[in-house]
Amino acid sequence: MEKRKELFSGKAKSVYTTDDDNRYILLFRDDTSAFDGKKIEQLDRKGMVNNKFNAFIMEKLEKAGIETHFEQLLSDNETLVKKLEMMPIECVVRNISAGSICRRLGVEEGLEMTPPTFEFFLKNDELGDPMINEYHINTFGWAEAAHVERMKELTFQVNSVLKELFFQSDMLLVDHKLEFGLYEGRVILGDEFTPDGCRLWDKETRKKLDKDRFRQGLGGVVESYEEVGRRLGIDFGA
Ligand code: ADP
Ligand code: UDP
Repeated sequence: MEKRKELFSGKAKSVYTTDDDNRYILLFRDDTSAFDGKKIEQLDRKGMVNNKFNAFIMEKLEKAGIETHFEQLLSDNETLVKKLEMMPIECVVRNISAGSICRRLGVEEGLEMTPPTFEFFLKNDELGDPMINEYHINTFGWAEAAHVERMKELTFQVNSVLKELFFQSDMLLVDHKLEFGLYEGRVILGDEFTPDGCRLWDKETRKKLDKDRFRQGLGGVVESYEEVGRRLGIDFGA
C-alpha cells in the first residue's frame, strides 16, 4: 500500500490518500489537544499507543459484529482504513456523569446513568462543538434520518460491548465519543476509539485513566493509556 498525499491534518491524526481510491492511511501523531485545540502538547509515545489501542478495540468491535473502517495496522503510528464520507457529528454516550454534562446541568460527577444517555454534538471547533439534536441534523441536512437512527443504534451497541470489556479488566467506561461515516451507502464506525475520546476510571479507586489526566493537568497521561492497554492485554512493545 503506497502512501500518497496528506489530505488533512487534524488535532491528533493526519489523513493520507493511498494508491487505492477506497482506502486512507491514518497517522496517529503525538499531538494532544483539549478545550477545542486551545491546549496542545506533544506527548512522547502517544501516537504509537493510541494507534495500537485503536486497532485492538476496532478488532474487538468487528468480532462483535460491528462494522468499522479498520483494515490493518501498517506501522507503529499508521493504520489503513476504509475511506469514509464522514458525518460532521459526534455521538456521545454516558454511563456515569462527568465532563460537560456536569457543567451544563449542574449534576455532580460520578452519578450512575441508567439507561445510558445519548447526545449529539456538531463537529465544529470554531463553535466549540455545540450540542445539537435530531431536528438540527435534519433541518440543516447534516445526515439523513435513517443514518441518524443507525448511528444511535451502533453507538449503543459499541457501548454495551466495550463497557463489558473494560469492566472485565477492572475499569469503568464512563462515557465515550464516536464518529461515523458512509461506505458503499452503509453507516460504519470511523475515526478512533482510544483514551483520547473516552473516560475510563479504575473500578475500585475511580482513578482517572483517560484524557482527563491531560485536561486537568494530573500528569502520567501516556502512562495511564498504557496501563489501560496492559490491563486489556495489548502489547505496545518495548
Ligand atoms: P479532529 O478533526 O477532531 O481534529 P483528528 O486529528 O483525529 O480529529 O483528525 C482525523 C480526521 O479524520 C477527523 O476529521 C475524522 O473525522 C477523519 N476521519 C477519521 N476516519 C476517517 C475515515 N475512515 N475516512 C475519512 N475521514 C476519516
Ligand atoms: N469527546 C471527544 N472529542 C470532543 C468532545 C468530547 O472525544 O470533541 C469525548 C470526551 O473525551 C468524553 C466524551 O466525549 O469522553 C464526552 O465529552 P464531554 O461532552 O463531557 O466534553 P468534555 O468535558 O470532554 O469537554
